[in-house]
Amino acid sequence: FLTVEQLRKDFGSKTVLHDINFTMAEGELLSILGPSGCGKSTLLRCIGGFESLSNGSIKLDGEELSSVPAEDRPVATVFQTYGLFPHMTVLNNIIYGLKFKQVSKKEAIERGRDILKLLELEGYQHKRIQELSGGEQQRVALGRSLIVKPQLLLLDEPLSNLDERLRVSMREEIKKIQQKFNIATIFVTHDQEEAFAIADRIILMESGRISQMGTAEEIYNHPASSFSLAFIGQSN
Ligand code: ATP
Ligand code: MG
Repeated sequence: FLTVEQLRKDFGSKTVLHDINFTMAEGELLSILGPSGCGKSTLLRCIGGFESLSNGSIKLDGEELSSVPAEDRPVATVFQTYGLFPHMTVLNNIIYGLKFKQVSKKEAIERGRDILKLLELEGYQHKRIQELSGGEQQRVALGRSLIVKPQLLLLDEPLSNLDERLRVSMREEIKKIQQKFNIATIFVTHDQEEAFAIADRIILMESGRISQMGTAEEIYNHPASSFSLAFIGQSN
């Protein structure tokens, strides 16, 4: 479904991603796990189309994405800061992405209401973003991404602004939504417990390289390198 091959990304003379190769199945929830600065966000930005590649290819259903501009990729990204419009209502935030598609206002509102229902945000449509809690804003950000029916959802540390209790309940929620929409999702985190709890498979990254890829169980039981061992052990 998604194939990343020999991806390299340089910033000036500095290579921040080296020879990244992986594939992802339809409907899979893949977590990219690794310490700060290892290149997680850069990898996600390359897939989302917000950074050009220095080498390699990204294919979705066999189609090369690298030359497709971000707004034309069937990919939606939720950034850590959500990027919601604070002065706009919940409903208008959610249907914002449809403005640029061939969708009538009436249909946009209907789809927006359906999404609100799915996310259990009925009754919130006329509220403004600043009146919402962190977890509610998180759900609005997800709704805004899902309304354009992307084939791939990219989440960059979506829970890091939330307190511990909310983080745990929101990660269950994300898993539920992901399964309900059956949408392939890449979930970036530096939190091992979070990755282990949510993901079908995990890519463990170390300074711009993939150090191991597998299920939580495989990584936990058979750490492939001293880095895997140290990183997994350290955050326990
Ligand atoms: P964190 O967990 O802190 O978010 P990360 O794994 O997401 O870290 P990236 O943001 O991908 O890390 O950064 C990887 C490396 O690339 C870092 O060394 C960073 O300084 C560098 N980098 C990122 N963006 C740029 C840029 N636009 N120009 C130059 N260097 C950059
Ligand atoms: Mg990051």
